[in-house]
Formats: sequence, C-alpha cells, structure tokens
Amino acid sequence: MTRVSRRRLLGTGALTAAGAVVAAGAAPSAAARTAPAGTVSASADVVIVGAGLSGLIAARDLAAAGRSVLVLEARERPGGRVYGMPLGDGTTSEGGAEFIGPTQDRIAALAKDMGVATYATYNEGKNVYYRDGKRSLYATDGILGAVPPDWGVVDLELALLRLGGMIKDVPVGEPWKAAKAQEWDAQTFFTWSRSNTISSGARFLMDAFASSTLSMRSQEVSLLYLLNYAASAGNESTPGTVDRLINTKGGAQESRFVGGSQEVPVRLAAKLGDIIRYNAPVRSIVTGSGGVTVNADGITASAERVIVAMSPAIAGKIDYSPALPASRAQLMQRYPMGSIAKFVAVYDTPFWRADGLTGQAVADSGAIDATFDNSPPDGSRGILMGFMNQANIRKLDAASAADVRAAGLDSFTKLFGDKAADPKLTAFQRWDNEVWSGGGPVGIAPPGALTAFGPALRAACGPVHWAGTETSDYWTGYMDGAVRSGERVAKEVHAAL
Ligand SMILES: Cc1cc2nc3c(=O)[nH]c(=O)nc-3n(C[C@H](O)[C@H](O)[C@H](O)COP(=O)(O)OP(=O)(O)OC[C@H]3O[C@@H](n4cnc5c(N)ncnc54)[C@H](O)[C@@H]3O)c2cc1C
Repeated sequence: MTRVSRRRLLGTGALTAAGAVVAAGAAPSAAARTAPAGTVSASADVVIVGAGLSGLIAARDLAAAGRSVLVLEARERPGGRVYGMPLGDGTTSEGGAEFIGPTQDRIAALAKDMGVATYATYNEGKNVYYRDGKRSLYATDGILGAVPPDWGVVDLELALLRLGGMIKDVPVGEPWKAAKAQEWDAQTFFTWSRSNTISSGARFLMDAFASSTLSMRSQEVSLLYLLNYAASAGNESTPGTVDRLINTKGGAQESRFVGGSQEVPVRLAAKLGDIIRYNAPVRSIVTGSGGVTVNADGITASAERVIVAMSPAIAGKIDYSPALPASRAQLMQRYPMGSIAKFVAVYDTPFWRADGLTGQAVADSGAIDATFDNSPPDGSRGILMGFMNQANIRKLDAASAADVRAAGLDSFTKLFGDKAADPKLTAFQRWDNEVWSGGGPVGIAPPGALTAFGPALRAACGPVHWAGTETSDYWTGYMDGAVRSGERVAKEVHAAL
C-alpha cells in the first residue's frame, strides 16, 4: 500500500486535487488531539508551509510527481513578497517584487507557463541624480552602467574591478567555502568600501549599491554575503556580476510583467486549487516517530515530510519540537530581513518621458532614495514608483498616511519637477511591519553568520526541509531564486520519500 492510499483510508473527509485528506473529525496525532475545538485534521505526504513562489513551486512539482500535498498559508492570498498593491481604483501596482532580467530563467519559464508576458522597463532618456541638494542628469548606459559620470568615477571603477575579482572566487551558493571566506566574513561591506575608495562620491554609490539591492545599510552586511549575492546574479553558464544586479538594460531591472508580477503566483495558485489553505498560520511543527504534525490556526495536518518555504527569520517564528539542531536554530537568529517600502503616485500621463527622463533616479536625501517608471506597457497613464530604504522608512514609523504621502510627493517633486506634486492616486506598502514577511526584499547575513551557520541554510533537519529564495544558489533574494529553491526542495523531498 502506498503512502497516499494508506493516508486516504485515514479520512472521512474530502480528498483534494493532489491527494491531501482534510477530515473534520480525524485525529492523527497527539498534537492534533490537543488542538482547539473547531480545528480540522488533514494528512498528506508533504505539508508545505507558505504559499510564496518557493512553496507553490514545491507543491507543483511534488504533486506532479504523484505525492499528496497540502499547503498552509498564513495570509489570505498567495505570493508572499510578490503582491499587487491596490491603487484604490480597482487596479494594482507591484508593492513587492516587480522586475525580471537576463539569466533569471526559472521565473521566466514559470511566467511563460502561466501565460504572463513581459515588457521592457521604460528606460529611454536620462536618469536623475540628486546629491547634496543638487539635481543633475546622467545617461543610463555609461561605462559603469547606471553610475553617474562624476564623483570619483575612476575611484569607483577601480573598487568595482577589485570587487569583480573577488566575486569570481566565491563558490555560488556556498560562499563559506571560498578560500578567503573567513577574512571576507569578518568585515562589513562598509569597512571594505572605506578601505578601497577615497572619494565621497564613490563611497556614496557603494552604500547606494548595498542599500538599493538589499535595503540594508552597508554597515550591517557581511562582505562575504554581498560577494555571494553578486556571484549569484547569473546562472549555471553565465557568472554573476554587480552590473547584472544594478542595471536596468541587461540587468535585474530589465523587464516587468504585463498585469503585474502577482499574476504569476496568483495563476499558479489557482491551478493548484484546493490543496492550498489560506488564513492558516502555522504555529508549531512537531516531529514524532510516525512523521510530522503541523499545527496551524484552524487545521492540524500530519505528513511524512514538511517544507518550510520562507525566509530563515520568519521560519524562526515557528515552534519546533523537538528543538532544531543548534546550527539551524542559531542561523534563524542571524539572518535579519532588510527594511523596504514602495510609494507610488499615479498621474494622467508619464510626464517625465516628455522631459527626456527615464523615471529612474538616485537620491541621497528625502524619503525616497531610488525611483522607476511603473507605468503600464501602453503608457496610458503615468506611475512613478519610489523605494524607501531602511533608514528612510524608520523615520516614518509614527507618520500618518497623510505625512507619508507628503514625504513621498516631496521626493518626487524634487526629482521630477512640480508636475509630480499633484497625482490622481497614491499608494504605499512597507514590508518591515508585515507579520508574515518581517521585511524585504531578502534576509541578509551580518559578519560571521555565513561562515559559522551558512551550511544550515539548506540542510534538512530530519523530516523538516527548507525552501525560500534565501536558500537558492543563483538569484538568491529574487523571484528566480524562490522558484529555484522550490524546484530543489521538491526533488530533495521526493527522493527522501
Ligand atoms: C519591496 C520588494 C521588492 C522586490 N523586488 C524584487 C524584484 O524586482 N525582482 C525579484 O525577482 N524579486 C524582488 N523581491 C524579492 C522577491 O519578492 C522574493 O525573493 C520572493 O518573492 C521570495 O519568495 P519566497 O517564496 O522565498 O518567500 P515569500 O514570498 O516570503 O513566501 C513565504 C510565504 O510564507 C508565508 N508564511 C510566513 N510565515 C508563515 C507561517 N507561520 N505559516 C504559514 N505561512 C507562513 C508568507 O505569508 C508567504 O506567503 C522584492 C521583494 C520586496 C519585498
């Protein structure tokens, strides 16, 4: 008797599309018996915690391999850090992940499967650079990609060359194995950039690089982590580079999804159907001799294996019994999320285009530190999107919605002129106060964490397996990494079963 058919005998309840049993009265384990009244029981070969891209892909692949699967998701929607932020008029704009670029093959293949097309991010004209109270313009395709032509550009170029050499020496996805791992993990990106640049312009742009890719201050990030992040910005045949991380054309910001990135997880979740249970935050995972019991609000599920598909920091909020091995438990205490927010303003037209501007900007002051043109493919209306980085959003912790709007529009006006002051709509999404994300775009490693605890990122703890973009070799931190991690963990669990 296979596990699936044996499990089918358990239930008096309905058998879901991928074979998971949800029964109103069954009590498969001690943990289930102590569950609050009204809690339903379920069983499957594999329970997946989290319906972000990584969890959805693991579910897709395991179901396709004939395993029964149940996905428990805390929110009322799929997608996690991929989210269409409502604009208040029935439409949305990307509040979380947005862009896709070259070598991100796995998210590209998924989008194609889901029938979601892509289009080029608007990139015609000049970018705005705002520093020390002065606004200037620079060409997008200069020698250093998106770097303004000034402010110690030679200094910066030399530092980037040195960085590029170091990136080549990082084994992608296993940075703790680099020959100089200990030396690089003993310092922050800030200390390295201060020792390797002399001009304030180069230093500002080095900090802006860390901040715009990770939304962490460069003082908080291990040099080794950042080197691996750049090394991972490629694929099996194309090595990762800093340029591919930061550029629009030829880089990670090259394209967007028609209808918004959330179309990808939303359509995938719809295909998976009723194997996903929403509003079911998992509180504890109990491993016993007969398998695993996963206790969520309203449902207790038993399984042979469980996949926790989220960032290490958020995985650390679940209670594990027995306690996880120390290296995994400690890793989850040492992998904080960045802090990031997006502010968007909607205008009748993308007026900055007529002014010869791409809509992209970098700024050293104001609430917004980087911007993009988020207009729809036909440019039928103009949408400016501004990233608020860690320090900037923290200043707005206690701000009212009106204050946030005023701060966002003040930035847009400084960067793009008075026409930016009067939008039709605005919207704001911050991630650091989202209970089920804890920040974004990605979990980062401070000094010392990767060399001591890095191998615990992917190593299964008995029947408990780990997915999430943070566990990916290539494109860690991106949707592509999330998809890759789901594919990897599905193979791992299928083999283990
Ligand atoms: C503002 C922002 C901008 C970004 N921009 C880009 C971009 O342009 N391009 C790009 O490729 N990537 C971008 N990213 C990163 C991208 O969103 C992530 O890499 C990717 O979505 C992560 O997917 P995941 O499945 O690993 O994790 P998540 O999306 O975090 O999924 C985890 C899921 O687990 C659920 N969950 C958490 N705890 C529990 C629990 N206890 N019980 C049940 N469910 C739980 C969560 O609700 C969530 O649905 C951005 C992210 C942010 C926040």
